[in-house]
Amino acid sequence: MAILVTGGLGYIGSHTVVELIQSNFEVIIVDDLSNTEKYILDGIQKITGVRPVFYPFDLKRRELLTQVLEAHKIEACIHFAAYKAVGESQEKPIDYYENNLFSLINLLQEFKSRNISNFIFSSSCTVYGQADEMPIWEETPLKQPESSYGRTKRMGEDILKDFAIAHHKKVSLLRYFNPIGAHPSALIGELPLGVPNNLVPYICQTAAGIRACLSIFGQDYPTADGTAIRDYIYVVDLAKAHVAALKKVIHHKTDSLIDIYNLGTGKGSSVLEVVKGFEAANQVRVKYEFKPRRTGDITIAYADVSKAERELNWKASTSLEEALKTTWQWQKHLESRNS
Ligand code: UDP
Repeated sequence: MAILVTGGLGYIGSHTVVELIQSNFEVIIVDDLSNTEKYILDGIQKITGVRPVFYPFDLKRRELLTQVLEAHKIEACIHFAAYKAVGESQEKPIDYYENNLFSLINLLQEFKSRNISNFIFSSSCTVYGQADEMPIWEETPLKQPESSYGRTKRMGEDILKDFAIAHHKKVSLLRYFNPIGAHPSALIGELPLGVPNNLVPYICQTAAGIRACLSIFGQDYPTADGTAIRDYIYVVDLAKAHVAALKKVIHHKTDSLIDIYNLGTGKGSSVLEVVKGFEAANQVRVKYEFKPRRTGDITIAYADVSKAERELNWKASTSLEEALKTTWQWQKHLESRNS
């Protein structure tokens, strides 16, 4: 029995594939390479000694998905494949709904009539919007997400809840806070395709001289230093949470289950703290200037992680400093690869 990992060559997907293989799962990857490169497969192989079966196609092509499911005995799916750029989703909402929802629906159409009962979904803390109270726990009321991207995640969760109940399946909805860092081997990480939207990749490219200056969006938030606060979780810790969530779902005995977990560290860090942390961890300078707030950004978000700790026996253990070091090591690896 194998685990189907969609988007398995992407940022979080590839780190999860490594953890799955190291936990003795057989992995089948489907990825259309729209936001990554096949080269990541080599990294997975170097780290684990295993080269997982890889199918390069878009999940909207249901007939190709059918062929994969006919060819392999699949026990569970971890579904990462999705567009994820918040700003882009505002410019191309229909592309986001089409890609993120059709791929999910194709998977569920296939699974509902097959004996594939376990499904892990990449969701996001964006489903909470700006929560009224911190920390955010799983019962914190959901608000309309600010972006079309966020709405695809919210809709995906609703679709999966209906799927679990109507078709007696087991689903786990994992709400990520802000993933950062790269594998300690520096053999896999987030590939820089275009100008980064996220804070840590932008900091890293500024330190490397690829970007002239980091813009810090907003100096007037009601926080201690005036910059916005997020919960930055190390990507390998996040990947390990997927393995824990998968094992729980697989071993769950009754035929229907809806699990929901916040995956963060439980600690909020401001933008300035992350910039200073990166400089200290890596002994480099990051040039920055303050700019107005970015549209759609919230002030503060950090997780209550006690449910995942209690039920999955999982806890993020890597410090912000350690995670930021791996980001820089990955940058060095990319530079040596390009030179
Ligand atoms: N941010 C910033 N400059 C950048 C990118 C991000 O100041 O170039 C800020 C952003 O406004 C937010 C925080 O960093 O307060 C985290 O942003 P990111 O896009 O990484 O994650 P998200 O907005 O999804 O939490």
